[in-house]
Amino acid sequence: TKAHVEAVAAAKPLNAYILETPEKAIAMAKDSDARRARGDAGALDGAPLGIKDLFCTEGVRSTACSNILGNFVPTYESTVTANLWRDGAVMLGKLNLDEFAMGSSNETSAFGPVVNPWRSEGSNSKLTPGGSSGGSAAAVAADLCLGATATDTGGSIRQPAAFTGTVGIKPTYGRCSRWGVVAFASSLDQAGPIAKTVEDAAILLKSMSGHDAKDSTSLDIEVPDFPSFVGKSVKGLRIGIPKEYRVDNMPPEIEKLWEQGIAWLKEAGCEIVEVSLPHTKYALPAYYIVAPAEASSNLARYDGMRYGLRENGGNLTETYENTRAAGFGAEVKRRILIGTYVLSAGYYDAYYVKALKVRRRIAEDFDQAFEKVDALLTPTAPSAAFELGANSDDPVAMYLNDIFTVTVNLAGLPGMSIPAGVDANGLPLGLQLIGKALDEGTLFSLGGALE
Ligand code: GLN
Repeated sequence: TKAHVEAVAAAKPLNAYILETPEKAIAMAKDSDARRARGDAGALDGAPLGIKDLFCTEGVRSTACSNILGNFVPTYESTVTANLWRDGAVMLGKLNLDEFAMGSSNETSAFGPVVNPWRSEGSNSKLTPGGSSGGSAAAVAADLCLGATATDTGGSIRQPAAFTGTVGIKPTYGRCSRWGVVAFASSLDQAGPIAKTVEDAAILLKSMSGHDAKDSTSLDIEVPDFPSFVGKSVKGLRIGIPKEYRVDNMPPEIEKLWEQGIAWLKEAGCEIVEVSLPHTKYALPAYYIVAPAEASSNLARYDGMRYGLRENGGNLTETYENTRAAGFGAEVKRRILIGTYVLSAGYYDAYYVKALKVRRRIAEDFDQAFEKVDALLTPTAPSAAFELGANSDDPVAMYLNDIFTVTVNLAGLPGMSIPAGVDANGLPLGLQLIGKALDEGTLFSLGGALE
C-alpha cells in the first residue's frame, strides 16, 4: 500500500486520481494486516484499489467529476465498494472520469482530462486513455493501483481498457448493485472492474457482485466462482463473428487484430461461426436516444437544494436555473437537452418509443445468435487511443467510438475487453468478447485463452 501511495503521489501529471486518500489507505491496510493475523483474511486482503469517482464513498468526497457535486460528501457507501472493503481491499483514492460518465475520452471531466500513460512524456500530442473510466484504466496501466472499479453504460469499461492494454469486464445487467453509484442511464449502467489480468478481473468481479435489496434490478442469484473459469479449456466452444461489425472504413489494423483473435481462438480449439446481428446499424442512434432520455430524468435531482452546488437567484426557479447553468458542463447539458427533447410530447413516439423497439430487436438478434454460438468476438473499439482534443469539438465523431460496445448494454449482456497486441505505433488494441446473459464464466475462460 505504501509503495502505491507513493506512486500515486508521484504521478500527478497523468491526472488519473482526483482525490488521494493516503491516510485512509494506510489505516485500511493495517486493518487488513490485523485480520490476516487473526487468520481471517478476505479474498482481496490488502489489495490497493482505485475507485472511480462515480461510486459514493462514505465520508470521502464523491463528485462524478461534475462541478454540481463538487463539494458532495456522501453519508453512505456504495454496495460495490462496501463489498470490496468487506473482502479486505484498500482504497487509494478516487479516480477521474468523464462528467457523470458521459464521454469516450475523459475530456468532459470538470477536473480535466486524464493522460494515457502509453504516451505521456516527451511528446506534445498526448493521448486519451478513453472514457468514461479513463482514470481507472490509466491508473491500472501505470501501476497506480492493483485494480480499479469502473462503470459501463455504453462502453466505459471496455473502451478505456482497450486503449490502455488492460482487462475490463462489464457484467450482465443486474450482477452488481447500482446502489450508491451516481446514476447516468439506469437501464444500461453496470459496474465492473478494470484490472491487469483476466484472473485479477475475475477475483474483483466476484467480490463486487451479489444481490442487494437496495437495488430492485439487482439479481437474486448466486455469484459463480469467476476465478475458477480462468485457465479452463475452451476447446469445442463455438465463437460467433458478427458480420455487421465489419463496418465501412474499418482501419486495416483493426481488421488484422480481429483476424488474429480468430486465429488464436482456433488454435485453442474453438469453432468459428459467422453470425448476423442485423439491427447493429441502429444501435448507436438508439443508444444516443435511450441514454440521454434516462440521463435527463436522473439528473433532474440536481436542483441546488439537496446536493452539492447552489447558486442562489431571486426566486426558486432562478436558483434552479443558476445552479444547473453553473454546475453542469457542456456535454451534460447537451445530453439533458437531447433527452428532454426525445421524451417530450409529440416526439416521444417518434424517438423514444422507436428507440425502445430497436433495443428489443437488438436483444433478439443476440438471442438468435446465441442459439448457434457460445460467445461472440469483435474488436472493442474502431481505433487505438486517439489524441486528446482530436474529437472534442465533434460530438458525433466521439459517439462513433462506441459503435462496438453500446449493443451489449442495450441487450444487458456481459462484455469483456482483452489486450490483444499493439498497432503500428506501438499502442494497445483490445478484442471484445460478448457472452450470453449470466455467462461471464465463459468470457473468463476465453479471456484467459487470449491473454
Ligand atoms: N461513451 C458513451 C457515452 O458517452 C458511454 C459512456 C459510458 O459507458 N458511461 O454515453
